Amino acid sequence: MAQIVLIEDDVDIRRLVADALAAQGHDVESAAAALDGLQLTVKGKPDLVVMDLGLPDLDGTELLRMIRAVSQVPIIVITARGADEVVVRTLDSGADDYLVKPFSVAQLEARVRALLRRGAATDSGEKIRIGDLMIDAAAREATLAGESIDLSPKEFDLLRVLAERAGEVVSKRALMAEVWREPYGGAERTVDVHLSWLRSKLGETAQEPRYLRTVHGVGVKLVDPNG
Ligand code: CA
Repeated sequence: MAQIVLIEDDVDIRRLVADALAAQGHDVESAAAALDGLQLTVKGKPDLVVMDLGLPDLDGTELLRMIRAVSQVPIIVITARGADEVVVRTLDSGADDYLVKPFSVAQLEARVRALLRRGAATDSGEKIRIGDLMIDAAAREATLAGESIDLSPKEFDLLRVLAERAGEVVSKRALMAEVWREPYGGAERTVDVHLSWLRSKLGETAQEPRYLRTVHGVGVKLVDPNG
């Protein structure tokens, strides 16, 4: 169970999101305006903030910066505007992930789960183990069967994001957003290139994958090859 602050002025969406999160066992505090939400966030020290970008009293990106000035809490932004520049600005302002309206409860839950898991792993300094692969997010180190893997910063981030969601297919767009902070754009090739470098450092190929499984047209997932 996590403490979640929800900042959303639309009463229907607020109720929907609050009910969905409460049904997952989370403790949700809601605010209908930016400054009330900021106060809840500062006072309550939540594990996660879910906030709408279009709020009555302050621009959402302004609120994001204000929260970021005082807290590293994971933030999911809800936006009615899926335009590239809006999403890029949102992520640049310190959001960790975003949902474009209309979104499903399942999408919301998946993002909440992923961010809470990431927060828990980073906070506890917990190492992620998948088969013979070990990822230490705090130390930014990865080993395979006890041997250190020499990864570039982007390769490490790519591996870490996939490891945090081990067993789940992660889309290339999500990887662009999380690793490169570019949710759109014609740069999926960037993901492909880094995946192929990561593969070779893990001692595997696209033809004979072990940890990194490509799901054509969907994305990629990290699995335990012996699992
Ligand atoms: Ca709104």
